[in-house]
Amino acid sequence: MIYFDKVAKKYSNDPNAFAIQDINFSVAHNEFVSIVGHSGAGKTTLLKMLLAEERPTEGNVFFESVNVNELHRNEVTKLRRRIGMIFQDFRLLPNKTVYENIAFAMEAAGRSDEEIAFDVPHVLELVDLGHKIWDFPGHLSGGEKQRVAIARAIVNQPDIIIADEPTGNLDPVNTYEIVQILKKVNDIGTTVILTTHNKGIIDLLGRRVITMEGGRIIRDDASGKYVL
Ligand code: ADP
Repeated sequence: MIYFDKVAKKYSNDPNAFAIQDINFSVAHNEFVSIVGHSGAGKTTLLKMLLAEERPTEGNVFFESVNVNELHRNEVTKLRRRIGMIFQDFRLLPNKTVYENIAFAMEAAGRSDEEIAFDVPHVLELVDLGHKIWDFPGHLSGGEKQRVAIARAIVNQPDIIIADEPTGNLDPVNTYEIVQILKKVNDIGTTVILTTHNKGIIDLLGRRVITMEGGRIIRDDASGKYVL
């Protein structure tokens, strides 16, 4: 589904300034892959290559056999619609209710009012937040905010969820809940790519772990090893 072929990225002309280099890996449909590494290891750069936010200096990134670097602007928009994003800082719209936050993402994807009225309550049930549908984000706990963000990310049925440090602002109880929900999202057929610093999450998941250091992949373990 995703294939990085000898990818390297330099942001400056300095020949030694590779943010990532020699990146080769693939992700199959319905995999759950964690990418771990210290700050500056290259995780964000790698995700930017996949989202076509940055162009590789060397190599190619393929999504369903399509070379992401060769897409035109409108095709990049289509690619990004197939990817749901979840961030550490939630990125909810503070002046909109939970319902409106999710409806907004559906409107942007061209979904009808009928679909929105039907799907928003349904997706909120999936993250156990049906009772908060008319609340504003400011009235929710961090864990609840992240569950809304997950609902928003999955409502347009993306092929992939990218969760970039999704539990970075959460306590252990909420972290556990978010990991369980991401597992559920994966169980219903969505590929999940997660970046994290949290060893506990890796142990809890017991899934594939790619470890990055100094811009390179130094390990790729089939199940749950965190060695940094
Ligand atoms: P991580 O997400 O693992 O913290 P990053 O991908 O953000 O790592 O960074 C990898 C390396 O690339 C770091 O050395 C960082 O300083 C550098 N880098 C990242 N973005 C830029 C940029 N826009 N311009 C110059 N250097 C950058």
